[in-house]
Amino acid sequence: MTQEDTIFSKIIRKEIPSYKVYEDELVYAFLDISQVTKGHTLVVPKQATTNILTADSETASAVFARVPKIARAIQEAFPDVKGMNVLSNAEEIASQSVFHWHVHLIPRYHKNNDGF
Ligand code: 5GP
Repeated sequence: MTQEDTIFSKIIRKEIPSYKVYEDELVYAFLDISQVTKGHTLVVPKQATTNILTADSETASAVFARVPKIARAIQEAFPDVKGMNVLSNAEEIASQSVFHWHVHLIPRYHKNNDGF
C-alpha cells in the first residue's frame, strides 16, 4: 500500500465521508471515528507522509502551527472541556494503525473518565 492509498487520503479527497473540524490548503482535521472522548479530532497533513519520523519540517510546521487553533475550536464547541491530550503514534510498535501522519487531539472533561 502506498501512502496515498490510506483511508486518510481517501478522506482528504472526500471519497470517504468524515466530520470536518477544520480545513485549509495544507491541513485537514476531522473527528476520529472511534471517539476516545467527545470531540476527539485528528489533524492530518494533506501531503501524505507516514508519521512524525518521516515528516519534513515544512509538513510538521503546517500541522503543529494549526494545532492550537483547532484545539481551541474544539473547546469552544464543547465548553466543558477542561484539558486536552495531544499525541501522535509513530509505527506499529507505538500503536500507529493508519500510516498517514496524524495528531490526535483528545479533549479531557473529568479526571480519569471517558468524557461522555
Ligand atoms: P492511530 O492508531 O494510527 O494513532 O490512529 C488512527 C485513528 O484513526 C484511530 O483512532 C481510528 O479510530 C481512526 N480512524 C480509522 N479509520 C477511520 C475512518 O475511516 N474515519 C475516521 N474518522 N477515523 C478513522
